[in-house]
Order: sequence, then C-alpha cells, then structure tokens
Amino acid sequence: MLTRPLPLLLSGLLLSAFTAHAQKTYLQCGRLLDVRSGRAQTQMTLVVENGRVASVQQGYTTGSAADKVIDLKNKTVLPGLIDCHVHIETQPGRNNFSEQFILNPADLAYRALDNARKTLMAGFTTVRDLGGSGVNVSLRNAVNRGQVVGPRIFTAGNAISATGGHMDDTNGLSRELMDKLGQPSSVANGPDQCRQAVREQFKRGADVIKIASTGGVLDLSKDGSGPQYSEEEIKAVVETARDLGMKVACHAHGAEGIKRAIRAGVTSIEHGTLMDEDGMKLAKKYNTYYVPTIIAGKSVADSAKIVGYFPAAVQPKALSIGPLLQGTFGKAYKAGVKIAFGTDAGVYRHGVNALEFQYMTEAGMPNLEALRAATLNAADLLGETTNLGTLEPGKLADVVAVDGDPLQDIKTLQRVSFVMKQGVVYKQE
Ligand SMILES: [Zn+2]
Repeated sequence: MLTRPLPLLLSGLLLSAFTAHAQKTYLQCGRLLDVRSGRAQTQMTLVVENGRVASVQQGYTTGSAADKVIDLKNKTVLPGLIDCHVHIETQPGRNNFSEQFILNPADLAYRALDNARKTLMAGFTTVRDLGGSGVNVSLRNAVNRGQVVGPRIFTAGNAISATGGHMDDTNGLSRELMDKLGQPSSVANGPDQCRQAVREQFKRGADVIKIASTGGVLDLSKDGSGPQYSEEEIKAVVETARDLGMKVACHAHGAEGIKRAIRAGVTSIEHGTLMDEDGMKLAKKYNTYYVPTIIAGKSVADSAKIVGYFPAAVQPKALSIGPLLQGTFGKAYKAGVKIAFGTDAGVYRHGVNALEFQYMTEAGMPNLEALRAATLNAADLLGETTNLGTLEPGKLADVVAVDGDPLQDIKTLQRVSFVMKQGVVYKQE
C-alpha cells in the first residue's frame, strides 16, 4: 500500500518554509547500511536538517520537543536508490508504435506523472531519464518545484541518433509520410549536425546527452547490431556536450558501435549487449561506465513470445537481443568494467526497477556491489557525489528502508517500506 504521499509532501513543504527554526528529523535506524564500507551498524540515528544529513549518531538519539522522531528500529536503512536509465514518459504495451500518432504532450505528461510516483515509491529517489518527447524536462522542473511527487530527475530531453537509427521516429512509415515529416529533430548526421543537436538539447533544458551509436530493438529499423555513427560524429557529440557541462550516455548493442563510442569518450554504454572482450578492455582503459538494463532485455524477450505483441520488424530483434544482456553483464562485471545500475524502465513497467538487483546478483555480482552500483557508482556517473550516493553528513537526505537485510536477501529491495527524498517523507509503512 502507498501511504498518503501528498499530505506528507505538503507537511514537508510547510516545514521547509519555516527555516528560521529548522525542525530536525531523527531517523532511528535498527541497521544503518554504509554502502561505502559495506558495514551495517546497529542502533544508529540519522539526523536530517534542511533536506540534508546533519549527522550520523550512535544509539537512538532525539532532539528537542519540536523535532520529529521516526522509528525505523525494525528496518535496514540505506541511501535512496538511483536508476541511471529510465524513460519516465514511456510505458510498455502492444500499442507503443501507434501511440505516437494519437497521444498529445498532455497525455504523456499525465502518464509520466504516474510513472514518476511509482518510481519514487519503489525507493528510487533519483533517476536519469534517457530520452522522451520533452515532457521529461517539464516533469523534472515540476518535481524540483515541489508541485508533483516524483524522484529527482536528470534528463536527456530528446535522445539523438542517425537517420534510420534508434531515434528516427519515421522508421517504418510509408515513403509519403517520411517525406512529409522530414528529418526529426532527434536525428543528426555528420559532425556539424551532431554538434547542433547537442546544443539544441542544451537549449531545451537537458542535463545529459543521450545518443545511439547502433540501432535498437523497439524501433522499426531492420537491424540493431551494426554501427550507425562514425567515431568522428560521436566525438563531435562528446566534445560539444563537455563544453556545455554535460556527459554523454550512449545506447549501443553491437560490438563495433560500443568500441567507437568508448574511444570517442562517452561516459556510459547503455545495454552493451554484444560487448566483446576487446570492448570490455577498452571500457576499463577509458573508465567508461556500463549500464546493463537486464530487466528490459528479459521483458522484451518475454513479450516477443506473444504472437502479435510487437510489430514484425521488432519481434526477431527482441527475441535475439533481449536474453543476452544478463550474460554480457556477468562477463563485464568479472572483467572489471565499472557498473552503474540502470534498467530502461518504460520498456518494462515502472516501479519494479529493483528486480534488476536480483538479475545482477544472479549473474555473479555480490549483493553489496549491486547496491553500490545503484548508489555510489550511480552518483559518480551522474557527477553528483557531493550530494548523492551515501548517507554521510552534508549529503542530501535521500533515505530508504526495507524490513529485511539486503546484504543477505537482495529481494528485500523489491519491498521498500520507507522513502524520504531531500528530507521529506513520501512513504512510511
Ligand atoms: Zn532506453
């Protein structure tokens, strides 16, 4: 059950209005998990003030009568989870292809709002949104203003690809429609257009740039595995983004497209399905993060078994690419590639993001490492280590709690019973 997020949110907002006598919140934690050291300390108190962790104290402490105490003595408390790959506007379904012809931005906005609430209630206090229509930028702003309930969003705005690539929405249309629609703004070819496309996303309010250096599964192009950008084009993206203070996330399935993107300096490879040994060596050399999105692969492969679920062009790709992700992830982790947690929520339904932890550990990653991927590493990938990723004094008070011990049973993360974001409680069971 979701417990009255709105009144709690409003009370949080009211509290933050009276900053002269900032009320402190004392979170009394039965077990407090330090993801950095891997130690779980028992009987600890986390003191929260003005949305940040003020101190971490031994034993169960309280403040003055005006301060608030929250009893989490039966729970394991850990930093808010971070999903580095979601599409907050998108939902899975057999009508995905036709939706682009019938939905208006307002429809996407209401849907995104619902997705955002589910994501936060699942314990994901921060997400990196890797592409949508532009509603994602407005949603980020509305969350930041405190108008709606959702995770903190870092968004790519519109993702960018080559003509005929993953973000070319005219793929598969009749020639007449293709000609009428022309080149979508999400399409860029050649270094000059690539630079312009990055600047355009910057202008529209993106925090991060997302490109696709190979084709994808859920678009109507015929093959997702070959490279679709030259190294020169990807470099133009990376350098322009860097000038504007942005990092680049690169969707890639095929081995060559992965290597070109790594050499061109992208910050993360998304999916990385056919990453080979050389690709893994390159990722280590260039310090590139790998964001595996295992759930998405499994989910599209399952849906592809239902006759007629996907358009004919998508089904074979979903069946062949989808099941490979978990194996590639396991090899990449063992090879020492840096991993950040990301799921491609929107390709599967929002709110079950934590299933990814189970898939990561099944592939050989220890529970603690999987947790680090969604906290320390994710914060590093976002460039937000001063604010996010641990519960150390000075960091934002993004806190979740579960009833069991995630170091023993990773599935406990699928049942988050307490969520605080920036000092405001959204869920308390
Ligand atoms: Zn994606």
